[in-house]
Amino acid sequence: MSLWYTDFFMATPVKVKALVTRVVKHTPSVVSYQFAPQGRVPKFHPGQFLHLALDAYSPDRPWPESRVFSIASATSERARELSVTISVKGTYTQRIFNTLQEGSECWLKLPYGEFLFPDDRPLALVAGGVGITPYLSLLKHRLEIRSSQPIRLSYGVRSAEYYLFGELLNRCEAELPNFHMAVYCEDGSVPGNRGILDIAAIHDAAPGKALFFLSGPPAMISAFRNRLSGLGVEQNRIRVDDWE
Ligand SMILES: Cc1cc2nc3c(=O)[nH]c(=O)nc-3n(C[C@H](O)[C@H](O)[C@H](O)COP(=O)(O)OP(=O)(O)OC[C@H]3O[C@@H](n4cnc5c(N)ncnc54)[C@H](O)[C@@H]3O)c2cc1C
Repeated sequence: MSLWYTDFFMATPVKVKALVTRVVKHTPSVVSYQFAPQGRVPKFHPGQFLHLALDAYSPDRPWPESRVFSIASATSERARELSVTISVKGTYTQRIFNTLQEGSECWLKLPYGEFLFPDDRPLALVAGGVGITPYLSLLKHRLEIRSSQPIRLSYGVRSAEYYLFGELLNRCEAELPNFHMAVYCEDGSVPGNRGILDIAAIHDAAPGKALFFLSGPPAMISAFRNRLSGLGVEQNRIRVDDWE
């Protein structure tokens, strides 16, 4: 197994109380939450995730039930802001949706995860739907440093309603010299390609020796991983954010 991620300094996770400062409902079932942490937040890397617990944590009790979500905010803003985008899928995310409002308290535990982006290789990012979330922190960071790293984002959505974070993506196209985006929209309501993500076309358009990052529904990840292997992409050039 490749231990490439050992190049990244990994902070020890901390538990921190957080106040909800903003709630944005993108669709009836996709919501972004912004939190103001009430304690120290360690440096995290783009692509890492946090645990979110609705019930109060106390050091004399075990960590309460929680679920994990990609950190969508920039690490440089962590002292005053953390954010996540949640697709309501099951019992717990429904509880989050019903409970968290501006002013609510919850508990976060972070950082975790090895879905990490080297800065010295071309990146081919593939996002299916809410699978865009682990890339948001990366793109915010690369905007901050005006990065010239070759990045090609392929973003698949069902319809315009599900096309999220357009403002950030437009900024990347305008301000990052080597950023390119291809949108695949099933019903054609977003300009770009009509239909579902086409992994063969994504492979052909990727910069040479690019690392492929796959984030989205498990069936998409498994199909695309197999297809990329079939196209000759070595396993160590394929990284997946597995939400199962
Ligand atoms: C690395 C990673 C990043 C993710 N990022 C995002 C994101 O940015 N946005 C997003 O919407 N989703 C994300 N997810 C998925 C998210 O964590 C939820 O698992 C998913 O939304 C399922 O919905 P639910 O928790 O409401 O379902 P539920 O029906 O509540 O639970 C789903 C499953 O969680 C497990 N589970 C049950 N009880 C517990 C418990 N007490 N503690 C822990 N697990 C339990 C069971 O396997 C259960 O079937 C991510 C998952 C991973 C692994």
